[in-house]
Amino acid sequence: MTQTRSPIVLMYHGTPNAQPESHYSLSANLFAKHLRYLQQEGWTTVLFKDLQNVKTLPEKSVVITFDDGYEDNYSGAFLPLMGLGMKATWFIATDCIGSHAHWLGKPSTQTRMLTGERLLEMHTAGMEIASHTCSHPDLSALSADQQQLELSKAKAVLEDLLSTQVSSLAYPFGRFNADSVSVAEQTGYRMACTTRPGWFDSEPNPYMIRRIAIFSGDSVSTLARKLNFADNDVSWKKMTRYYANRVWDKLIHSI
Ligand SMILES: [Zn+2]
Repeated sequence: MTQTRSPIVLMYHGTPNAQPESHYSLSANLFAKHLRYLQQEGWTTVLFKDLQNVKTLPEKSVVITFDDGYEDNYSGAFLPLMGLGMKATWFIATDCIGSHAHWLGKPSTQTRMLTGERLLEMHTAGMEIASHTCSHPDLSALSADQQQLELSKAKAVLEDLLSTQVSSLAYPFGRFNADSVSVAEQTGYRMACTTRPGWFDSEPNPYMIRRIAIFSGDSVSTLARKLNFADNDVSWKKMTRYYANRVWDKLIHSI
């Protein structure tokens, strides 16, 4: 019997060529190691929008997503992905295209964002460019009308830039409420992702898809454990507890 395995969605942010300034960014060097590991282990990279037809996807499917759209993703992620024949999805805050991630405070090289020209090039090369709202707000703090504006305008800006339909969304800071879910559907998105960890098939609502966060310094073995357990916390302490429970379960059931 072949075991059917749920797809898994990973969340990356910046991929700088230097030491990451943010806990959420991964050095380009380490990111390249993640890609080689995924390829060696037989994972197929698919786009976030491909999850709309999940039954057509290969057994070990992984969605690599990038939030915000950092400029260092071009050389640190897009080019290596292309070199290995892999693909990924970018969630872009449209007000920040070609400028800075204003919510991170003082601008630096690592807060610089991809330009429209780069996004178009990446889209043409087969990457998915999707929505992360316009101004990267905490949607749960906005009225339904304000959320409607953020979601519909960002979609229109990207569709105009790329001349294609944009159907995927990621909530900024992973924060959303019941309005966000209904507004996402009303404004024509087909799926949205959160930052709650778990397997793709553990969430039936297409506007609340789970993702595993990758943090600065996550080694290849950490990535391997995250892929196995679909969790952000894969510390040895937690893993030890997991295996201890399994041994305990086995003992109980063998009595
Ligand atoms: Zn973001």
